[in-house]
Amino acid sequence: MWKLRFGMAWKAVMLLLVCAAVTSAADFGYGVQRGPGTWARDYEQCNGKHQSPININKMAVIKMEYPKMNYYNFDLRPKSVTLTNNGHTVLVTMNFTEGKEPRLSGGPLKIDAVYQFEQFHFHWGENDTLGSEDMINNQRYPAELHVVMRSLKYPDFASALDQEQGVVVLAFFFKVVERPLNPYYGEFVEMLSGIRGKDSSKNLVEPLPLWKFLSTYSTRYYSYIGSLTTPPCSEEVLWIDYQDAIYISEYQR
Ligand SMILES: [Zn+2]
Repeated sequence: MWKLRFGMAWKAVMLLLVCAAVTSAADFGYGVQRGPGTWARDYEQCNGKHQSPININKMAVIKMEYPKMNYYNFDLRPKSVTLTNNGHTVLVTMNFTEGKEPRLSGGPLKIDAVYQFEQFHFHWGENDTLGSEDMINNQRYPAELHVVMRSLKYPDFASALDQEQGVVVLAFFFKVVERPLNPYYGEFVEMLSGIRGKDSSKNLVEPLPLWKFLSTYSTRYYSYIGSLTTPPCSEEVLWIDYQDAIYISEYQR
């Protein structure tokens, strides 16, 4: 039996992904020359007034009572789960039988609004040099997962952008613990080494339901109106930051 430090394996792969981003991304980056401060040159909205990420100051949060959040099909097994290196991050898409896609309603969402799963992706230290994007009481987490969902009022993601609450992002922070192992990230981490080149992708052998990659059906979250955190930085995005972190182990067998 041998052990591979999870953190090191994760970081090594992420570092490779960053290299891919630096050498081949023609659109935006996180370095000095193409960093967030320069994005507004090409994407005007990146200078907007409601830009994410933010720091959530717990003292300034207003406690609200919302109706229960309804999670539909989050526990359904997709037909396939595809990991793609898009040059900036690992993008995860899922293929479902039509009508069986994960959907969301209730909570802070507008009455009668229903959102459908588009993709999820990650932000981590080696990619943006900062770890998680949003902070809570100025504390950053080592990584953050964003589940992007589109309002079913719009036929596709592009037409939902910039519409009032056309897009919802569910944000989950990661916490690294020594044990126990997170069984749902086993194959995922192994697959990362197979998508080192930009635009390369792989399917998981075992297509797990969306919820397995998240924390819990948490009822504790912060919500605010912000923006996409990468160009085109579209605003009017409703953010839901969950307080319960996803635990991943420092070790992976
Ligand atoms: Zn994101």
